[in-house]
Amino acid sequence: MSVIYNRVALIGLGLIASSMAHAMRRAGLAGEIIGTARSSETRDIAREIGFCDRVVDTAAEAVVGADLVVLAVPVGAMGAVAAEIGPHLQDGATVTDVGSVKAAVIEAVAPHLPDHVHFVPGHPLAGTEHSGPRSGFAALFDNRWTILIPNGADTTATERLRDLWQAMGALVEMMDAEHHDLVLSVTSHTPHLIAYTMVGVADDLSRVTDSEVIKYSAAGFRDFTRIAASDPTMWRDVFLANKDATLEILGRFTEELFALQRSIRTGDGDALFDYFTRTRAIRRGIIEAGQDTDAPDFGRTGKRD
Ligand code: NAP
Repeated sequence: MSVIYNRVALIGLGLIASSMAHAMRRAGLAGEIIGTARSSETRDIAREIGFCDRVVDTAAEAVVGADLVVLAVPVGAMGAVAAEIGPHLQDGATVTDVGSVKAAVIEAVAPHLPDHVHFVPGHPLAGTEHSGPRSGFAALFDNRWTILIPNGADTTATERLRDLWQAMGALVEMMDAEHHDLVLSVTSHTPHLIAYTMVGVADDLSRVTDSEVIKYSAAGFRDFTRIAASDPTMWRDVFLANKDATLEILGRFTEELFALQRSIRTGDGDALFDYFTRTRAIRRGIIEAGQDTDAPDFGRTGKRD
């Protein structure tokens, strides 16, 4: 494949940015990859692994001369990073991000960007519960969806970014920010909150039962613990930034839970059977769509389970 961007600046060098670097290298998509991270420890690890051509100390330095800038830091840090790089961006550069929430990121980032750059927010629906520069791998985005938010940006700039994601192995869909936030609340954010809660409940219980919860941990609970091992900073920021959609979906979830609770209390086996039959069909649909091995933001079964 041929070079799509001459110089790509990765701001933040964790799971997503390092995976992008590996994926771009795999297909020869970037003339040069410049990286930076907040801590010298992360920068040193990135230098040691060598997935960037150069690792520099500041975001302002990293974006100089870059025709693509990728913000790959937690959602709550995007605004401050945008403020730092704004004055140093090259004319005509594309700025994108990989944040798990879109409306709040656009609100935080857009005011800091000059008119002469194209801002095309994005979100790869691929991840693991691991974080940091050592956790990245080239195949992370293969056959996973990446959502791009056109956000009124120049069509050529948007299409070029779409070409990059496709060449990194991803399937690309365009969506508006509010719709993205609602869909992701259902498919990723609220399920994470439920997993965190379930593991918290079990942890309370394990104190009573002397760690039987861990000893006899069965498949359902083990899956929850993997999800609940996801990075606390990232997920704190996701819920703070996607508050409305999360509360909307949690409200619906609570209603359904109460309905199931009533069915159990009243011994309504038919209602339970019908409900589980309906949910089983959803699982079959996911398998048929080829999206079962690595659910969005949910861990990568093949690699680490
Ligand atoms: P990660 O592995 O934890 O890496 C985060 C990077 O951001 C690190 O380089 C870290 O620097 C830097 N950083 C953290 N706090 C910062 C701050 N306040 N200011 C500046 N830099 C800061 O995270 P990730 O999983 O790659 O996630 C990055 C973004 O992708 C997030 O917005 C997340 O919502 C999104 N995302 C994640 C997943 C997933 O499953 N993990 C999937 C899709 C999208 P240091 O290492 O030096 O601290």
